[in-house]
Amino acid sequence: MTARARYQGCCHCGRVSFEVEARLDYVMACNCSLCRRIGALWHGVAEPNLRITSGESELLLYQFNTRTAKHYSCKHCGVHPFSRPRLDPTRWAVNVRCIDGVDLSALPLKHFDGANWEEAAKALYAKRA
Ligand SMILES: [Zn+2]
Repeated sequence: MTARARYQGCCHCGRVSFEVEARLDYVMACNCSLCRRIGALWHGVAEPNLRITSGESELLLYQFNTRTAKHYSCKHCGVHPFSRPRLDPTRWAVNVRCIDGVDLSALPLKHFDGANWEEAAKALYAKRA
């Protein structure tokens, strides 16, 4: 069982940094048209568990399709440290690749079929209910 811990992360140039409290027991790869290109590995956390510690004004917001999700990237280095996921935009999805000192090869990898978002979301909600 992975304990809940506090992690630090940042974009590549370091202008955008954040602190996140999470139980890092999985990472999720998504094959939607954006995620498959940026290669992020996501972990979802509740709104109060992520704090942007610097560089909030350096973030670029990108939205597409239903414009529900908010995809943030650093406008200098282009890295995507976190987003507001379409599944629940009141929460955060953290790009675990941007967190310091995490052994990604040790974390179970889940797949989200974002290419078929409606069906994938329905299946996920059914599993949670
Ligand atoms: Zn940057």
